[in-house]
Amino acid sequence: MRPVYNFSAGPAMLPESVLLKIQDELLSYQGSNVSMLEVNHRSSEFFGIIDHAKATLKELMNIPDTYSIVFLQGGTSQQFAMIPMNFAKGRRVAYVDTGFWSAKAIEEAHILNDTLVVGSSKEDGYSYLPMDLNVPEDCAYVHITTNATSEGLMYRDLPDTNGVPLIGDACSNILGFPYDINDFAMLYAGTQKNLGMSGLTLAIIRNDMLHDVEGLPYIFDYKKHIQENSVYNTSPTFAIYVTDLMLTWVKEQGGVEALSQQNERKAAMLYELIDRSGFYSNWVKPSDRSSMNVVFTTNDETLDTLFVEEAAQEDMINLGAHRSSRGMRVSIYNAMPVEAVEKLVDFMNRFQEKYQ
Ligand SMILES: *Cc1c(COP(=O)(O)O)cnc(C)c1O
Repeated sequence: MRPVYNFSAGPAMLPESVLLKIQDELLSYQGSNVSMLEVNHRSSEFFGIIDHAKATLKELMNIPDTYSIVFLQGGTSQQFAMIPMNFAKGRRVAYVDTGFWSAKAIEEAHILNDTLVVGSSKEDGYSYLPMDLNVPEDCAYVHITTNATSEGLMYRDLPDTNGVPLIGDACSNILGFPYDINDFAMLYAGTQKNLGMSGLTLAIIRNDMLHDVEGLPYIFDYKKHIQENSVYNTSPTFAIYVTDLMLTWVKEQGGVEALSQQNERKAAMLYELIDRSGFYSNWVKPSDRSSMNVVFTTNDETLDTLFVEEAAQEDMINLGAHRSSRGMRVSIYNAMPVEAVEKLVDFMNRFQEKYQ
Protein backbone atom coordinates (compact mmCIF):
# COMPACT_ATOMS: atom_id res chain seq x y z
CA MET A 1 0.00 0.00 0.00
CA ARG A 2 1.22 3.49 -0.81
CA PRO A 3 2.18 5.40 2.32
CA VAL A 4 0.32 8.65 1.50
CA TYR A 5 -3.46 8.95 1.62
CA ASN A 6 -4.66 11.78 -0.60
CA PHE A 7 -8.01 13.08 0.69
CA SER A 8 -8.28 15.70 -2.07
CA ALA A 9 -11.72 16.39 -3.57
CA GLY A 10 -10.27 16.17 -7.07
CA PRO A 11 -8.20 15.25 -8.92
CA ALA A 12 -8.39 12.46 -6.40
CA MET A 13 -6.72 9.24 -5.41
CA LEU A 14 -6.74 6.30 -7.83
CA PRO A 15 -6.54 2.65 -6.77
CA GLU A 16 -2.98 1.40 -6.62
CA SER A 17 -3.81 -1.52 -8.93
CA VAL A 18 -5.00 0.91 -11.61
CA LEU A 19 -1.82 2.98 -11.34
CA LEU A 20 0.31 -0.16 -11.60
CA LYS A 21 -1.62 -1.29 -14.67
CA ILE A 22 -1.02 2.10 -16.32
CA GLN A 23 2.68 1.84 -15.46
CA ASP A 24 2.86 -1.68 -16.78
CA GLU A 25 1.21 -0.78 -20.09
CA LEU A 26 2.73 2.67 -20.56
CA LEU A 27 5.43 1.74 -23.07
CA SER A 28 3.53 -0.98 -24.84
CA TYR A 29 -0.26 -1.16 -24.83
CA GLN A 30 -1.28 -4.82 -24.91
CA GLY A 31 2.00 -5.92 -26.46
CA SER A 32 1.74 -3.48 -29.39
CA ASN A 33 4.99 -1.60 -28.59
CA VAL A 34 2.90 1.56 -28.89
CA SER A 35 2.03 3.66 -25.85
CA MET A 36 -1.56 4.59 -25.15
CA LEU A 37 -0.23 8.16 -25.07
CA GLU A 38 0.50 7.82 -28.79
CA VAL A 39 -2.51 5.87 -30.03
CA ASN A 40 -4.63 7.52 -32.70
CA HIS A 41 -8.14 8.49 -31.64
CA ARG A 42 -9.65 6.87 -34.73
CA SER A 43 -7.68 3.64 -34.48
CA SER A 44 -9.32 0.30 -33.85
CA GLU A 45 -7.40 0.00 -30.53
CA PHE A 46 -8.92 3.23 -29.33
CA PHE A 47 -12.46 2.45 -30.51
CA GLY A 48 -12.03 -0.84 -28.67
CA ILE A 49 -11.42 1.13 -25.47
CA ILE A 50 -14.36 3.50 -26.03
CA ASP A 51 -16.71 0.62 -26.71
CA HIS A 52 -15.44 -1.38 -23.74
CA ALA A 53 -15.80 1.61 -21.41
CA LYS A 54 -19.34 2.28 -22.62
CA ALA A 55 -20.35 -1.35 -22.30
CA THR A 56 -18.91 -1.58 -18.77
CA LEU A 57 -20.65 1.62 -17.67
CA LYS A 58 -23.90 0.39 -19.18
CA GLU A 59 -23.64 -2.81 -17.20
CA LEU A 60 -22.60 -1.11 -13.94
CA MET A 61 -25.48 1.38 -14.04
CA ASN A 62 -28.08 -0.76 -15.86
CA ILE A 63 -28.38 1.86 -18.58
CA PRO A 64 -31.12 1.01 -21.10
CA ASP A 65 -30.72 1.45 -24.88
CA THR A 66 -32.86 4.57 -24.71
CA TYR A 67 -29.80 6.44 -23.40
CA SER A 68 -26.53 7.46 -25.07
CA ILE A 69 -23.14 7.59 -23.38
CA VAL A 70 -20.70 10.21 -24.58
CA PHE A 71 -17.19 11.39 -23.64
CA LEU A 72 -16.60 15.14 -23.72
CA GLN A 73 -14.03 17.80 -22.86
CA GLY A 74 -14.20 21.18 -21.15
CA GLY A 75 -14.76 19.67 -17.73
CA THR A 76 -17.94 19.43 -15.75
CA SER A 77 -18.12 23.21 -15.97
CA GLN A 78 -18.51 23.22 -19.76
CA GLN A 79 -21.68 21.19 -19.28
CA PHE A 80 -23.04 24.04 -17.18
CA ALA A 81 -23.16 25.99 -20.47
CA MET A 82 -23.92 23.13 -22.88
CA ILE A 83 -26.97 21.90 -20.96
CA PRO A 84 -29.01 25.09 -21.42
CA MET A 85 -27.61 25.53 -24.97
CA ASN A 86 -28.87 22.09 -25.97
CA PHE A 87 -32.01 21.62 -23.91
CA ALA A 88 -33.62 24.98 -23.08
CA LYS A 89 -35.13 25.52 -26.54
CA GLY A 90 -36.47 28.94 -25.61
CA ARG A 91 -38.10 27.77 -22.40
CA ARG A 92 -37.39 28.57 -18.78
CA VAL A 93 -34.90 26.33 -16.98
CA ALA A 94 -35.04 25.37 -13.29
CA TYR A 95 -32.16 24.89 -10.84
CA VAL A 96 -31.74 23.80 -7.25
CA ASP A 97 -29.03 25.72 -5.40
CA THR A 98 -27.17 23.54 -2.91
CA GLY A 99 -23.81 25.25 -2.90
CA PHE A 100 -20.73 26.32 -4.79
CA TRP A 101 -21.08 24.08 -7.87
CA SER A 102 -24.81 24.45 -8.36
CA ALA A 103 -24.40 28.21 -8.04
CA LYS A 104 -21.83 28.08 -10.85
CA ALA A 105 -24.25 26.05 -12.99
CA ILE A 106 -26.97 28.65 -12.32
CA GLU A 107 -24.62 31.48 -13.21
CA GLU A 108 -23.89 29.93 -16.61
CA ALA A 109 -27.53 29.09 -17.37
CA HIS A 110 -28.49 32.65 -16.52
CA ILE A 111 -26.31 34.09 -19.30
CA LEU A 112 -28.50 32.69 -22.08
CA ASN A 113 -31.78 31.76 -20.38
CA ASP A 114 -34.59 32.73 -18.13
CA THR A 115 -33.39 30.76 -15.08
CA LEU A 116 -35.55 29.90 -12.08
CA VAL A 117 -34.11 28.81 -8.75
CA VAL A 118 -36.78 26.38 -7.52
CA GLY A 119 -35.04 25.43 -4.29
CA SER A 120 -32.13 26.75 -2.24
CA SER A 121 -30.66 26.22 1.20
CA LYS A 122 -28.29 29.18 0.84
CA GLU A 123 -29.99 31.15 3.65
CA ASP A 124 -29.32 28.23 5.99
CA GLY A 125 -25.66 27.90 5.11
CA TYR A 126 -26.35 25.04 2.67
CA SER A 127 -27.04 22.71 5.56
CA TYR A 128 -29.74 20.60 3.87
CA LEU A 129 -31.20 19.59 0.50
CA PRO A 130 -34.42 21.40 -0.46
CA MET A 131 -37.02 18.78 -1.43
CA ASP A 132 -40.22 20.82 -2.01
CA LEU A 133 -39.53 22.36 -5.37
CA ASN A 134 -42.83 23.45 -7.00
CA VAL A 135 -41.41 23.27 -10.52
CA PRO A 136 -43.59 25.01 -13.16
CA GLU A 137 -44.63 22.48 -15.82
CA ASP A 138 -43.32 24.57 -18.69
CA CYS A 139 -39.66 24.39 -17.60
CA ALA A 140 -37.32 22.59 -19.99
CA TYR A 141 -35.54 20.74 -17.18
CA VAL A 142 -34.62 20.79 -13.48
CA HIS A 143 -30.93 20.71 -12.60
CA ILE A 144 -29.54 19.35 -9.33
CA THR A 145 -26.05 18.61 -8.03
CA THR A 146 -26.37 15.02 -6.81
CA ASN A 147 -23.45 15.46 -4.41
CA ALA A 148 -22.49 18.96 -3.29
CA THR A 149 -18.75 18.43 -3.06
CA SER A 150 -17.86 21.55 -1.07
CA GLU A 151 -20.86 21.50 1.31
CA GLY A 152 -20.93 17.74 1.99
CA LEU A 153 -24.57 17.19 0.93
CA MET A 154 -25.76 14.16 -1.05
CA TYR A 155 -29.14 13.16 -2.48
CA ARG A 156 -30.19 9.63 -1.58
CA ASP A 157 -33.85 10.27 -2.47
CA LEU A 158 -34.59 12.56 -5.38
CA PRO A 159 -36.98 15.54 -5.29
CA ASP A 160 -40.31 15.57 -7.16
CA THR A 161 -39.90 17.58 -10.38
CA ASN A 162 -43.56 17.72 -11.42
CA GLY A 163 -42.83 15.60 -14.50
CA VAL A 164 -40.10 17.95 -15.75
CA PRO A 165 -36.91 16.12 -16.90
CA LEU A 166 -34.24 15.90 -14.19
CA ILE A 167 -30.56 16.59 -14.96
CA GLY A 168 -27.88 15.73 -12.39
CA ASP A 169 -24.31 16.93 -11.99
CA ALA A 170 -22.87 13.74 -10.47
CA CYS A 171 -19.24 14.85 -10.71
CA SER A 172 -18.39 13.76 -7.17
CA ASN A 173 -20.60 10.70 -6.69
CA ILE A 174 -21.06 8.97 -10.02
CA LEU A 175 -20.74 5.21 -9.36
CA GLY A 176 -20.39 6.03 -5.66
CA PHE A 177 -24.13 5.88 -5.05
CA PRO A 178 -26.57 3.56 -6.88
CA TYR A 179 -28.88 6.03 -8.65
CA ASP A 180 -31.51 4.67 -11.01
CA ILE A 181 -30.61 6.23 -14.35
CA ASN A 182 -34.29 6.06 -15.33
CA ASP A 183 -34.93 8.90 -12.87
CA PHE A 184 -32.69 11.20 -14.92
CA ALA A 185 -32.88 12.72 -18.40
CA MET A 186 -29.14 13.30 -18.10
CA LEU A 187 -26.40 12.54 -15.62
CA TYR A 188 -22.90 13.87 -16.12
CA ALA A 189 -19.54 13.95 -14.37
CA GLY A 190 -15.96 15.03 -14.86
CA THR A 191 -13.91 11.90 -14.29
CA GLN A 192 -11.25 13.38 -11.99
CA LYS A 193 -13.06 12.58 -8.74
CA ASN A 194 -14.52 9.12 -8.77
CA LEU A 195 -13.70 7.77 -12.18
CA GLY A 196 -10.20 8.51 -13.37
CA MET A 197 -8.06 11.52 -14.18
CA SER A 198 -8.74 15.14 -15.19
CA GLY A 199 -9.50 16.23 -18.74
CA LEU A 200 -12.54 14.08 -19.44
CA THR A 201 -16.27 14.41 -18.82
CA LEU A 202 -18.78 11.62 -19.12
CA ALA A 203 -22.43 12.21 -19.96
CA ILE A 204 -25.39 9.82 -20.06
CA ILE A 205 -28.27 11.39 -21.98
CA ARG A 206 -31.78 10.07 -22.65
CA ASN A 207 -32.20 10.05 -26.40
CA ASP A 208 -35.55 11.85 -26.40
CA MET A 209 -33.74 14.96 -25.08
CA LEU A 210 -31.69 15.24 -28.28
CA HIS A 211 -32.96 17.58 -31.00
CA ASP A 212 -31.44 19.75 -33.70
CA VAL A 213 -30.79 23.15 -32.19
CA GLU A 214 -30.59 26.03 -34.61
CA GLY A 215 -27.41 28.07 -34.45
CA LEU A 216 -25.61 25.65 -32.14
CA PRO A 217 -21.96 25.05 -33.13
CA TYR A 218 -21.17 21.33 -33.46
CA ILE A 219 -18.49 21.45 -30.78
CA PHE A 220 -21.19 22.25 -28.19
CA ASP A 221 -23.79 19.90 -29.66
CA TYR A 222 -24.43 16.71 -27.68
CA LYS A 223 -26.16 15.13 -30.65
CA LYS A 224 -23.11 15.64 -32.86
CA HIS A 225 -20.71 14.22 -30.26
CA ILE A 226 -22.93 11.17 -29.85
CA GLN A 227 -23.27 10.63 -33.62
CA GLU A 228 -19.47 10.75 -33.90
CA ASN A 229 -19.02 8.19 -31.06
CA SER A 230 -17.08 10.72 -28.92
CA VAL A 231 -14.46 11.42 -31.60
CA TYR A 232 -15.95 14.48 -33.30
CA ASN A 233 -12.47 15.88 -32.72
CA THR A 234 -9.36 14.44 -31.03
CA SER A 235 -10.63 13.00 -27.79
CA PRO A 236 -8.65 12.94 -24.53
CA THR A 237 -7.48 9.44 -25.39
CA PHE A 238 -5.37 8.72 -22.33
CA ALA A 239 -8.07 9.96 -19.95
CA ILE A 240 -10.63 7.68 -21.62
CA TYR A 241 -8.19 4.77 -21.26
CA VAL A 242 -7.80 5.53 -17.52
CA THR A 243 -11.58 5.74 -17.08
CA ASP A 244 -11.96 2.40 -18.84
CA LEU A 245 -9.51 0.89 -16.31
CA MET A 246 -11.45 2.50 -13.45
CA LEU A 247 -14.76 1.12 -14.72
CA THR A 248 -13.25 -2.36 -14.83
CA TRP A 249 -11.93 -1.81 -11.29
CA VAL A 250 -15.43 -0.82 -10.07
CA LYS A 251 -16.78 -4.04 -11.56
CA GLU A 252 -14.05 -6.08 -9.85
CA GLN A 253 -14.99 -4.49 -6.50
CA GLY A 254 -18.51 -5.88 -6.84
CA GLY A 255 -20.14 -2.93 -8.61
CA VAL A 256 -21.85 0.25 -7.51
CA GLU A 257 -24.03 -1.27 -4.77
CA ALA A 258 -21.03 -2.84 -3.01
CA LEU A 259 -18.91 0.31 -3.25
CA SER A 260 -21.81 2.49 -2.12
CA GLN A 261 -22.24 0.37 1.01
CA GLN A 262 -18.54 0.62 1.70
CA ASN A 263 -18.68 4.41 1.18
CA GLU A 264 -21.57 4.71 3.66
CA ARG A 265 -19.53 2.69 6.20
CA LYS A 266 -16.44 4.84 5.71
CA ALA A 267 -18.50 8.03 6.10
CA ALA A 268 -20.36 6.68 9.17
CA MET A 269 -17.02 6.12 10.97
CA LEU A 270 -16.27 9.82 10.57
CA TYR A 271 -19.76 11.18 11.32
CA GLU A 272 -20.04 9.02 14.46
CA LEU A 273 -16.74 10.31 15.76
CA ILE A 274 -17.66 13.92 14.95
CA ASP A 275 -21.08 13.68 16.62
CA ARG A 276 -19.91 12.09 19.85
CA SER A 277 -16.66 14.08 20.17
CA GLY A 278 -18.00 17.35 21.59
CA PHE A 279 -14.95 18.83 19.86
CA TYR A 280 -15.56 18.46 16.12
CA SER A 281 -18.80 19.52 14.50
CA ASN A 282 -20.66 19.01 11.24
CA TRP A 283 -23.62 21.28 10.40
CA VAL A 284 -25.41 19.17 7.77
CA LYS A 285 -28.85 17.61 8.37
CA PRO A 286 -28.00 13.95 9.12
CA SER A 287 -30.14 12.40 6.33
CA ASP A 288 -28.49 14.68 3.74
CA ARG A 289 -24.88 14.09 4.75
CA SER A 290 -22.61 13.02 1.92
CA SER A 291 -20.84 9.68 1.93
CA MET A 292 -18.23 11.10 -0.45
CA ASN A 293 -17.18 14.41 1.14
CA VAL A 294 -17.34 14.76 4.91
CA VAL A 295 -17.04 18.35 6.17
CA PHE A 296 -16.34 19.39 9.75
CA THR A 297 -14.65 22.00 11.92
CA THR A 298 -13.19 22.38 15.41
CA ASN A 299 -14.89 25.82 15.50
CA ASP A 300 -11.44 27.35 15.93
CA GLU A 301 -9.65 28.53 12.79
CA THR A 302 -6.18 28.13 14.28
CA LEU A 303 -6.90 24.54 15.31
CA ASP A 304 -8.40 23.76 11.89
CA THR A 305 -5.19 24.93 10.21
CA LEU A 306 -3.13 22.92 12.68
CA PHE A 307 -5.28 19.85 12.02
CA VAL A 308 -4.55 19.99 8.29
CA GLU A 309 -0.81 20.51 8.93
CA GLU A 310 -0.41 17.75 11.50
CA ALA A 311 -2.41 15.27 9.43
CA ALA A 312 -0.14 16.00 6.46
CA GLN A 313 2.88 15.23 8.65
CA GLU A 314 1.33 11.78 9.12
CA ASP A 315 0.86 11.37 5.35
CA MET A 316 -2.84 12.22 5.23
CA ILE A 317 -2.88 15.11 2.80
CA ASN A 318 -5.29 17.67 1.33
CA LEU A 319 -7.73 17.75 4.24
CA GLY A 320 -8.46 21.49 4.03
CA ALA A 321 -11.98 22.63 3.16
CA HIS A 322 -12.96 24.04 -0.23
CA ARG A 323 -12.13 27.74 -0.58
CA SER A 324 -15.88 28.55 -0.31
CA SER A 325 -16.28 26.73 3.02
CA ARG A 326 -14.49 26.43 6.37
CA GLY A 327 -12.69 23.82 8.43
CA MET A 328 -11.90 20.43 6.96
CA ARG A 329 -13.18 18.26 4.13
CA VAL A 330 -12.45 14.56 3.86
CA SER A 331 -13.02 13.22 0.35
CA ILE A 332 -13.50 9.48 0.50
CA TYR A 333 -14.41 8.40 -3.01
CA ASN A 334 -14.60 4.81 -4.21
CA ALA A 335 -10.81 4.46 -4.40
CA MET A 336 -10.19 5.54 -0.79
CA PRO A 337 -9.54 2.37 1.23
CA VAL A 338 -11.20 1.71 4.59
CA GLU A 339 -7.73 1.58 6.24
CA ALA A 340 -7.21 5.22 5.30
CA VAL A 341 -10.37 6.26 7.13
CA GLU A 342 -9.37 4.14 10.14
CA LYS A 343 -6.01 5.89 10.18
CA LEU A 344 -7.72 9.28 10.00
CA VAL A 345 -10.15 8.40 12.81
CA ASP A 346 -7.19 7.43 14.99
CA PHE A 347 -5.51 10.74 14.18
CA MET A 348 -8.70 12.69 14.95
CA ASN A 349 -8.98 11.06 18.37
CA ARG A 350 -5.36 11.86 19.19
CA PHE A 351 -5.71 15.43 17.89
CA GLN A 352 -8.73 15.97 20.14
CA GLU A 353 -6.93 14.59 23.22
CA LYS A 354 -3.98 16.86 22.55
CA TYR A 355 -5.81 20.16 21.95
CA GLN A 356 -9.24 19.99 23.60
C1 LIG B 1 -15.50 19.34 -9.14
C2 LIG B 1 -16.89 19.63 -9.52
C3 LIG B 1 -17.22 20.38 -10.66
C4 LIG B 1 -16.18 21.05 -11.54
O1 LIG B 1 -15.54 20.21 -12.36
P1 LIG B 1 -14.57 20.75 -13.52
O2 LIG B 1 -14.29 19.49 -14.25
O3 LIG B 1 -13.39 21.35 -12.85
O4 LIG B 1 -15.31 21.74 -14.34
C5 LIG B 1 -18.55 20.53 -10.96
N1 LIG B 1 -19.52 20.01 -10.20
C6 LIG B 1 -19.24 19.29 -9.10
C7 LIG B 1 -20.36 18.72 -8.29
C8 LIG B 1 -17.92 19.09 -8.73
O5 LIG B 1 -17.65 18.37 -7.62
